Amino acid sequence: MSDLPEWPARYQADLSDAEFDTLAVRAGQLRSPEGEHSEAIFPTSSYVFASAAEAAATFGGDRDGNVYSRYTNPTVRAFEERLAALEGGEACAATASGMAAIYALCIAHLEAGDHMICSRAVFGSTTVLLEKFLRKFNVDITYVDLLDLDQWRGSVQSNTKLLFLESPSNPLTEVADLTAIAQISRDAGALFVVDNCFCTPAAQLPLALGADLVVHSATKYIDGQGRCLGGAVVGSQELIEPIIGVLRSAGPTMSPFNAWVFLKGLETLSLRMKAHSDNALALAEWLEQHPNVTKVNYCGLPSHPQHELARTQQRLFGGVLSFEVTGGREQAWKVVDATRMISITANLGDTKTTITHPGTTTHGRLTDEQRDQAGISQALVRVSVGLESVDDIIKDLARGLDSL
Ligand SMILES: *Cc1c(COP(=O)(O)O)cnc(C)c1O
Repeated sequence: MSDLPEWPARYQADLSDAEFDTLAVRAGQLRSPEGEHSEAIFPTSSYVFASAAEAAATFGGDRDGNVYSRYTNPTVRAFEERLAALEGGEACAATASGMAAIYALCIAHLEAGDHMICSRAVFGSTTVLLEKFLRKFNVDITYVDLLDLDQWRGSVQSNTKLLFLESPSNPLTEVADLTAIAQISRDAGALFVVDNCFCTPAAQLPLALGADLVVHSATKYIDGQGRCLGGAVVGSQELIEPIIGVLRSAGPTMSPFNAWVFLKGLETLSLRMKAHSDNALALAEWLEQHPNVTKVNYCGLPSHPQHELARTQQRLFGGVLSFEVTGGREQAWKVVDATRMISITANLGDTKTTITHPGTTTHGRLTDEQRDQAGISQALVRVSVGLESVDDIIKDLARGLDSL
């Protein structure tokens, strides 16, 4: 992070007191002596030195400078600085994927004999990582209901080191009280980690609400156009440094090309998240009055149980919603299959609207009992609302819904 040379002063914009939208475009500014306006990509595995003495000084840490791209890369560093500025964190570690970010932070901050508390409503691969691999190294995990503060509090043990959640949750869009859970974590002397993938910093700033670390799948809204895999962890220098240590030794670092795509993605993040949220709200309102829809889950709707909480802790309500149709799996599939534009895929956070049936895809491996407990009925359909005209998105969903 700080072990690199400063760019020449004439290339540095004055960003003191800059607003979010300015930081999104200007923070982590990278310009080589060629003077290019758009940030350059540095696709190089290693770096050269002027002399044996300079190489020795750089390897030994007596001189700032790049050595090898598993350690540092200018394009990756520019992305890290920009995302850290947007999340309001001191430092950032970019990773090869969202899962690599979660893996690296767990490996860096947990050890055998530790205990963590995790929301039951987290990304499927996160549960697999914890259950299949973290447990193997004798880390104990307790799963709790995202909304039940008594369960969070009651699950704390003397060896609890980490609390982990996503808010709003997927696919039910339940909203956790981040300030309250941050307090429980502080009282326990644990680290509070928020997966901010659904909101992005354009919609929610978990560090300002008391989280210690924010984790991202940049694959989703930060890219926003479905091109690259990537991830990141943001927090204090003290908490990020051990994570960078894991990345340097284990290797799941971000490629310079992907970092460049994500840098460009951050420049339009605010505009895109606002447009995603506007489209999602318009669609949610239309779904709510449709006779063949029994329930709409979107925290931007006044009917959502945590709408007021979402209004206080989020700037935008995001682009993902879900709804239940009259009937069950057959009717839900009918709505999915009647679409002619919307993409049938479990991916989300794309300019293109996507639709999925969680009960037989993302949550298909759960037992009926686990699915019931998670509130995922067979009548549930999830939509990641894209940036097409919302009238066309509505038309595409109406085809199936009107025919039920
Ligand atoms: C997709 C996703 C991840 C994993 O990210 P990858 O980039 O696919 O590894 C983690 N958390 C959430 C909430 C996600 O949606």
